[in-house]
Amino acid sequence: LIRPLGEVISSYTQLQTGLGALARVQEVLALDPEHDDVPERPGRSPVVLRVPSAADPVPLLELDGVGFGYPDGTPVLSGVSFAVPAGSRVALVGPSGAGKSTVLALVEGFYPLSAGAVRWAGTDTRELPRAALRARMGYVEQEAPVLAGTVRQNLQLATPDATDEQLWAALADVGLTGVVERSPLGLDVPVGDDGVLLSGGERQRLAIARSLLSRPALLLLDEPTASLDARNEGLLRDTLAAAAADRALLVVAHRLSTVLDSDRIVVLDAGRVVASGTHHELVDTSPLYRELATAQLLV
Ligand code: ATP
Repeated sequence: LIRPLGEVISSYTQLQTGLGALARVQEVLALDPEHDDVPERPGRSPVVLRVPSAADPVPLLELDGVGFGYPDGTPVLSGVSFAVPAGSRVALVGPSGAGKSTVLALVEGFYPLSAGAVRWAGTDTRELPRAALRARMGYVEQEAPVLAGTVRQNLQLATPDATDEQLWAALADVGLTGVVERSPLGLDVPVGDDGVLLSGGERQRLAIARSLLSRPALLLLDEPTASLDARNEGLLRDTLAAAAADRALLVVAHRLSTVLDSDRIVVLDAGRVVASGTHHELVDTSPLYRELATAQLLV
């Protein structure tokens, strides 16, 4: 009886996982129809969005008085305003539940705003085809998905034509060359039980490498909440520095240590921006930031 019973339990677990995924699909399908996308114009080549230069007074991305509540009605963000100038590194920090990940979801256009606007190079993103916007942005989630398959397949998901040289360069940017070099299969080493077993930190760095291959002008990154060991934390910090070389970065940070050298740190509390500045400015001016920094032994 034991074996069939085990199979029943395993099928039940799979069914529950499937139902969870179905509920999320239904949530997306139930979105407001007004949230419809701007169509690309037939017969015209796809819209390519402008990327301002660092000297341009118009920021690459701007949130202006953004308000939002999830479909279940609870208000989550209110009057959120901040800018990400081209080429800059901006971090969002704050207590759990403050609304940090929600900000990234709104920038990606997953939900309609209830107030304010998100602008790309000065244009309201509601006036832009979402595909054009996403072509300029990379989004790496907290639980970065890594596919069963090889390192190459994972990297080439969005850029199937990327050359081996480009794949190795992307791996070097995220500090993963060593992991792949150790296998005689090189880029064709499988990920998972049969090949390189990637840790949480390494999975996210592989997802960042995949995203960098599309050369986004803005990389949105939701740092993993799960604890990273000191080595992986250091590697993530180095990865962010490499990723910021020729693009803007908006990072949701759970560890202040990974974003101390950001150009600007925006502090969110209960859905509002309560302070913003550099680490040193905030340690002097924001009691909440000082509290977060003290709890993480940074001051
Ligand atoms: P953490 O640091 O724990 O990741 P956060 O600052 O990123 O938190 P969010 O994940 O943006 O916070 O969540 C903000 C609020 O919105 C929370 O109260 C959360 O419960 C709620 N929330 C998040 N996602 C959803 C959703 N899909 N549906 C309904 N409420 C949600």
